[in-house]
Amino acid sequence: MATLREQIATNVLTVTRFRDLMKRMQANRPADDLELVKKAYDYSLHVHTGQSRASGEPYLVHPLEVALVLAEMKMDPIAVAAGLLHDSVEDTSVTIVDIRKEFGEQVAHIVEGVTKISKIDFATKEEQQAENLRKMMLAMVDDIRVVMIKLADRLHNMRTLEHLAPDRQQKIAKETLEIYGPIAHRLGMGKIRGELEDLGFKYLDPIAYEQVKQAVESHRKVGEAFLSRVEGVVRDKLKEAGITAKVESRTKRFYSIHKKLVRQRINVDQVYDLYAMRIITRSVQDCYAVLGIIHNVWRPVPGRIKDFIAMPRPNFYQSLHTSVITEDGTPFEVQIRTEEMHKMAEEGIAAHWKYKDGAVSAQDEQRLAWLRQVVEWQRDVSDPNEFLSTLKIDLYPEEVYIFTPKGKVVVLPRDSTPIDFAYSVHTEVGHTCVGAKVNGRMVPLRHKLHSGDIVEIMTQPGHKPSRDWLAIVKSSRSRNKIKHWLNIHQRERAIEIGRKLIEKEARKYRIPLKELKEEEFLRIASDYGLGRPDDLMAGIGYGKYSARQVLAKLSPAAGQALPEQEEAKETESAVTSVVRRVFGGDHNAITVKGSGDLLVYRARCCNPIRGEGIVGYVTRGKGVAVHAVSCPNVVNLMYEPERRIDVSWAKDESTPNAYPVKLTVFCDDRYGMLKLITGVIGDAKSNIRNIEARTANSQAVVDIILDISDLKHLETIINGLRKIPGVRDVQRLQKI
Ligand code: MN
Repeated sequence: MATLREQIATNVLTVTRFRDLMKRMQANRPADDLELVKKAYDYSLHVHTGQSRASGEPYLVHPLEVALVLAEMKMDPIAVAAGLLHDSVEDTSVTIVDIRKEFGEQVAHIVEGVTKISKIDFATKEEQQAENLRKMMLAMVDDIRVVMIKLADRLHNMRTLEHLAPDRQQKIAKETLEIYGPIAHRLGMGKIRGELEDLGFKYLDPIAYEQVKQAVESHRKVGEAFLSRVEGVVRDKLKEAGITAKVESRTKRFYSIHKKLVRQRINVDQVYDLYAMRIITRSVQDCYAVLGIIHNVWRPVPGRIKDFIAMPRPNFYQSLHTSVITEDGTPFEVQIRTEEMHKMAEEGIAAHWKYKDGAVSAQDEQRLAWLRQVVEWQRDVSDPNEFLSTLKIDLYPEEVYIFTPKGKVVVLPRDSTPIDFAYSVHTEVGHTCVGAKVNGRMVPLRHKLHSGDIVEIMTQPGHKPSRDWLAIVKSSRSRNKIKHWLNIHQRERAIEIGRKLIEKEARKYRIPLKELKEEEFLRIASDYGLGRPDDLMAGIGYGKYSARQVLAKLSPAAGQALPEQEEAKETESAVTSVVRRVFGGDHNAITVKGSGDLLVYRARCCNPIRGEGIVGYVTRGKGVAVHAVSCPNVVNLMYEPERRIDVSWAKDESTPNAYPVKLTVFCDDRYGMLKLITGVIGDAKSNIRNIEARTANSQAVVDIILDISDLKHLETIINGLRKIPGVRDVQRLQKI
């Protein structure tokens, strides 16, 4: 029992917060009866008395803060009451039965769901992690308020993470970035997601966080002056046009800046667009009018205009995006949306909270449908790792927008193929898909689709999915459909093959098959630890057991070698192109398809090395710039397809080239680390041109420029570095 002094201290700290909570509830939901919330507060105060958090504060502060977050999301009294009680079952002697008796079925049900999720340990090994995620998904589908409370709980825990030990911080931060941030994103809750991710980033990768923060800080003065100037211009122009709109600008979120650095493989000094402007209008019509005005003032960056109003993202995010470049060459991003769209972008599923009325909006219903779908998919997936990777793909959607010939929009993950598209139309269309036309032109099935493509699928009745498809599809829907089909049909086929092999073998040794009774096969099956003769046949069909050996168990006559069975393998006919040797620059290494002798050089933005996928771009007057296929500039450059040219690495390797490549090694700061790193590089016979190290918080970042002969050479070195104990990651920076 707590002392009176402790109780008073708790009261002083919490009574004001509780008053804030009630005020917020009254303001947001004036019609609601708050008796339940009051009762939950008293109950929570009572059961948590004497407990304190790692920060030394009374424990009650935590459920109160969680309830406040929920109240800010305009959640109903049931959810807020459940928020106040969310840790009572886990951390006190209270049981679910007690909660049910005091607060009714709904509150108890939600608290039970939250308690179940809290017991999940996401840091365990992969299989268990997948199983845990599955449980969490199930709890969410059950009542979405469970996940709202869990998100609010995680938000407050992240806000107070400084009080925990470093290893706990890392674990919780990782889990936040991998699971809770993406879930908030899928539910359209941009505001919570942003805060969760920035906090997660801060604890998981303190060096990178500091770098981004410092870069932003160092630009702050210039940045603020810049923003107030462009804001002024925008306001004047809007006024001229008679449009009323809110103009706000901000520095982008640290984590989103960081992700951009990683994605584009650039240093923080190379990031330019740290700023984003948001214009919030009164109508959709005004959104497009404002876009026109902005493009009239500044030059838009090609390929960066995105109309998420006409084509909302899968989480129903709507907005117009564009990037423009000012007269002095500074690029910045502009987002244009209505008040309503803004609210949806910030609050997502919580924006239209109507649970109390029993009516969930159509969009919210679709958001929940995503969750249900995920839960359903996992039923087809027996391998937990498969489920986990499936889920990770679905939690991080980077999507493309594809059109059917009739103009219907289909949203697919980035790098999706016509097969993905076919499966999104209908499972049967996927299974029987034999070819595709993209924008009227035939393409191979492995072709990567781009936003705006019009895709037409050609089917052939009776055609079957191929195992090879698994390597090229991107959406988990198609992956699961193909796997499912293969599992069923390949087994059937294997059984058939198994039987045929046994028959063939039996004929060879003149063993009448009639004499081979089902019971005997059953006996042999159980010898192999199998349940049914079909399992045995499938095993033979798959080549796991030999038909001869099985038959030998039946009849000692079988004793000779069996001809090996061969399965037909589907291969694509390779179209070889005429390749011409060219002269100039990197001519020894790269050949260009086409006529005329062209000067080639490796693009400075990505510095491709031998062995990497490359693509050529005909520049004006400078010859052919050769980019890595993975280079982020490629997408923008290939905006003009007629300037694209096929290039390949020359077969002739008699003049080996050494290319400078820049690597960044993220590792622990400890004795001998540098020696181990240079050891790996030396062993791989590479020269170091430059090496620099920075350290903070007993972690280090080492930048190395070294000579690399080809991709294989680079991979050897990267793999070697990754094996050094204490090395967390090795990244290649495209730009040197
Ligand atoms: Mn909690």
